[in-house]
Amino acid sequence: MNRALKVGILEGDDIGLEVVPETIKVMRAAAQKCGLEIDWHPMPIGRKAYDELGYTLPPGTLEKLDTLDGWVLGPIGHQAYPKATPNAINPHPILRKQYDLFANIRPAKSLPGLPAIYDDVDLIIVRENNEGMPPDRNMFMGNGEFRPTPDMTIGIRVITRQGSSKVARASFELARTRPRKKLTAVHKDTVFKLACGMFAEECRKLAKEYPDVAYDEVLVDTMAMKLVMKPQQFDVIVTTNTFGDILSDAAAGLVGGLGLAPGLSAGPERAMAQATHGSAPDIAGKGLANPYAMIVSGQMLLAWLGHKHDQPKAIEAAALMERAMERVIAEARSLTPDLGGKATTSQMGDAVAAAVTKG
Ligand code: NAD
Repeated sequence: MNRALKVGILEGDDIGLEVVPETIKVMRAAAQKCGLEIDWHPMPIGRKAYDELGYTLPPGTLEKLDTLDGWVLGPIGHQAYPKATPNAINPHPILRKQYDLFANIRPAKSLPGLPAIYDDVDLIIVRENNEGMPPDRNMFMGNGEFRPTPDMTIGIRVITRQGSSKVARASFELARTRPRKKLTAVHKDTVFKLACGMFAEECRKLAKEYPDVAYDEVLVDTMAMKLVMKPQQFDVIVTTNTFGDILSDAAAGLVGGLGLAPGLSAGPERAMAQATHGSAPDIAGKGLANPYAMIVSGQMLLAWLGHKHDQPKAIEAAALMERAMERVIAEARSLTPDLGGKATTSQMGDAVAAAVTKG
């Protein structure tokens, strides 16, 4: 297929207003260098949209997203949204559900030259994105947490065969493309016999279809220890929603912190670039935010779109972004303070965009 890709820009909140523009700057430079056509569609979302339009997810957003191939979503600072209004909802679970973005792909990779606990980690956590424990995304209507008495709260965890099988298949497919071809399923079926049990059963069924992928299982508490002590032994890890959320932040810590933790939420038709980190209100507006995680999320989106729509130029643009980022990090001149440098967010973005243009 050779048509312009349609990509949305949703900046999000706090540092989203800083890291998303740098991401788009670098993606534009890569697209231009590779002759890839992208139609960009900026759209309001989050606190700014609420202040200007009265909604954190303005009416018409989903209809517009229906027409796009994918989008870049900045972090959402929903903790600070007004509490007593239905118009100030957290938008990202809605987007994940609406577009069945069931696989949240979160790489953790050591980068040569950067201070980190380990310098030889290269793993990817695939987290089921639309089921599990989060009460705002595991119900069709209503909320998965409720309080029958003032002193008792009940939370619901949803696990389905279909949801488990989909994320497991996506993970086997991903593992198959990597040199080590290894997949570890993480659960705790010894205690959550039905919920984790169902997830594990679906992973085991699929393991038979992928004899070329070395498959094993680790209980989530043991995994927390193994990840901290010897993360090099892992390649692709698949797990349920909340286990994946926690383990991926831990994995980010092993390779240098949340500023280095990119992510992609992918579904059958669309994908959304979304870094693992939150909106970091403590550093917002100061030029201190590291744009790496968001830029690499944008790079993952281009690679995904390239494969999905058979557009080699998008795959080429993603590879160019990866090499440019590696060069900027290796040269160590234009890094943000969390990486030991003195550059601002936009100076680091400029350096990556310039490295892309240089080729
Ligand atoms: P956070 O990830 O925003 O910040 C945690 C720490 O990491 C902070 O010290 C922050 O300064 C630092 N950090 C995060 N990203 C960074 C970057 N790119 N460069 C440098 N340092 C960075 O987590 P939090 O403070 O717990 O949450 C803040 C807000 O973000 C809350 O409203 C929370 O609900 C929301 N949140 C959103 C998402 C998302 O949109 N995917 C994810 C997590 C948290």
